Amino acid sequence: ATPTSIMVGTGRAAELGVLFRKGQALQTLRNTKVVALDKTGTLTKGKPELTDLQVMPDFDEDETLALIAAVEQHSEHPIAEAIVAAAKARELTLATPEDFQALSGLGVSAQVSGKKVAVGADRYLTQLGYDLAAFSNTAQQLGTEGKSPLYAAIDGKLAAIIAVADPIKEGTPEAINALHALGLKVAMITGDNRHTAQAIARQLGIDEVEAEVMPDGKVAALQRLRKQHGPVAFVGDGINDAPALAEADVGLAIGTGTDIAIEAAEVVLMGGDLRAVPNALAISQATLTNIR
Ligand code: ADP
Ligand code: MG
Repeated sequence: ATPTSIMVGTGRAAELGVLFRKGQALQTLRNTKVVALDKTGTLTKGKPELTDLQVMPDFDEDETLALIAAVEQHSEHPIAEAIVAAAKARELTLATPEDFQALSGLGVSAQVSGKKVAVGADRYLTQLGYDLAAFSNTAQQLGTEGKSPLYAAIDGKLAAIIAVADPIKEGTPEAINALHALGLKVAMITGDNRHTAQAIARQLGIDEVEAEVMPDGKVAALQRLRKQHGPVAFVGDGINDAPALAEADVGLAIGTGTDIAIEAAEVVLMGGDLRAVPNALAISQATLTNIR
């Protein structure tokens, strides 16, 4: 492409809310075969709500939620905000946690009112030695509904299964259809539960799912997609998306996302709307066609 055609292309993109920080990305984007997207905060609003809470027979619902929420007060994960908000809606009093620990991609734990409390993904509680079989039917059902199941243990006993659901962003279904119309494969990369991720992918018509990916595993997931399909664009918003944004052939950051993600990306989508992604691709395709 000539410098002029790139200028015209990036100018048109800017009008549509797509900021190319490097003109080069307009050319790379054209060769992209697969668009991989982070789930939470990218495909979804990133504002989950607590939808379900089921306790084991020996546990009281409010007491359990109060203990879980007490731990989550110290976490910055969107899931934590959902749990704390639910406890506050029930007007529960939250104690101050001690020895708080957050394990990225797994969950959190702390000492609350003299009790040891752990909350997180199935793999986290399994790692801690808990048998989750009592909740396996419930978890399966929640996953099918596109909800993310989490587990809590209190003082060495499995106490509860909870679920959070994160609404899909308004422009997401249309964006995915448009990417397909442009001839691209669409993939989702998420740390979330496999069943949940697959249910959401099915609902959106997403072709490939990389689920239960640990924060440091997003780069490897991207490399697998590249090997299978060719050059890959990655769209993300979070701190732990930065390495994948840098690794991708083109990294596109959600402008309303974290600064660290924006820094790592070549393209910034000014709003949160994913329809900007097919718009950017369409412009990249049109720009280089023009100068042939
Ligand atoms: P994602 O942003 O895709 O959810 P993360 O790596 O942030 O990926 O988290 C992966 C999983 O780890 C979550 O889906 C959840 O099951 C668990 N998790 C992480 N942080 C917390 C937390 N504060 N409370 C409960 N579970 C958590
Ligand atoms: Mg995210």
